[in-house]
Amino acid sequence: MEFLADSKRYDSMIYNRCGRSGLKLPAISLGLWHNFGGVDSTENGRAMLRRAFDLGITHFDLANNYGPPPGSAEEMFGKMMKQDFLPYRDQMVISTKAGYYMWEGPYGEWGSKKYLVASLDQSLKRMGLDYVDVFYSHRPDPNTPLEETMAALDLVVRQGKALYVGISSYDAEQSNEAIRILKELGTPLLIHQPSYSMLNRWIEDGLQDVLDEHGVGSIAFCPLQQGLLTNRYLNGIPEDSRAKKSSGFLQEREVSEDVIIKVRMLHEIASSRGQSLAQMALAWVLRGGRVTSALIGASRISQIEENVKALDNLAFAEEELEEIERILG
Ligand code: NDP
Repeated sequence: MEFLADSKRYDSMIYNRCGRSGLKLPAISLGLWHNFGGVDSTENGRAMLRRAFDLGITHFDLANNYGPPPGSAEEMFGKMMKQDFLPYRDQMVISTKAGYYMWEGPYGEWGSKKYLVASLDQSLKRMGLDYVDVFYSHRPDPNTPLEETMAALDLVVRQGKALYVGISSYDAEQSNEAIRILKELGTPLLIHQPSYSMLNRWIEDGLQDVLDEHGVGSIAFCPLQQGLLTNRYLNGIPEDSRAKKSSGFLQEREVSEDVIIKVRMLHEIASSRGQSLAQMALAWVLRGGRVTSALIGASRISQIEENVKALDNLAFAEEELEEIERILG
């Protein structure tokens, strides 16, 4: 059936300006790392994309290697673009990345201009797009001069294959340098994509200050710690969870008793706020306005619906934050 987007989709989503750019991103974005690959149900993926868009989620995050198999998430997304979303292309922000292993030989991963430009061409083909909104260097490459990697980002913008550029998982010092080089090239860094959640706070140690200082936005990946910061593992490891799936990146050993003890205490605080733990975890990542968007994943529509409702209560009392610190500490 033809997809007609909900006319009320912009009524309740919050859109945050991405750093000092002209681009706004939804406070919640959807990533296609898991559950949109060749091994997954296309109908479920399609239903999740439709529902997300109907809830005001305008930003969809991909990478060349998402699947499995690598590339299949972009292919699936391309199919959905053609079937459902082409009339809405100008209402969508679509991101992809290159950096991790994608093809054999010396030009199939890391940060050379050779790899990044070829990879973006392949991504555009798989998605059936003329351009992406954001193209990322997916990880820093210790063996390629940063000047070359940044020049590749600048080049694809000048070629019209990307509108903006981003970096992912660069530390504070590397980010500072990337920002300087890109500024000189005339293609300012739009956004940084780091991991960030209540259980993973490395960006608070310098990176956030660098981004704030230079007016660069940020989008936090794995804000739910791959599902640990939800009600999913409160009472064991369900069969249909990421930790049980052979293609999932969350390992069963990461669902340790130590972590679950903390998760249960956090769940109590969330309940006292009238929220689910997932909702509180997202509100926490967005607290204080330092993070532009929380980049969630989902395996079913109901998770997207629940997570978007986090925006109904983003405020924290000082005591709640202190209590959370005590638990995390
Ligand atoms: P999350 O931390 O949001 O974890 C998502 C998983 O948590 C879901 O697949 C689901 O797992 C579970 N979940 C989500 N909502 C709920 C809920 N309300 N109740 C119960 N369980 C829930 O993020 P991801 O790890 O999926 O990463 C998000 C995106 O970030 C990726 O798609 C990708 O775009 C990006 N990313 C970027 C990286 C980078 O290097 N730049 C690296 C990793 C991710 P289940 O399957 O068990 O239901």
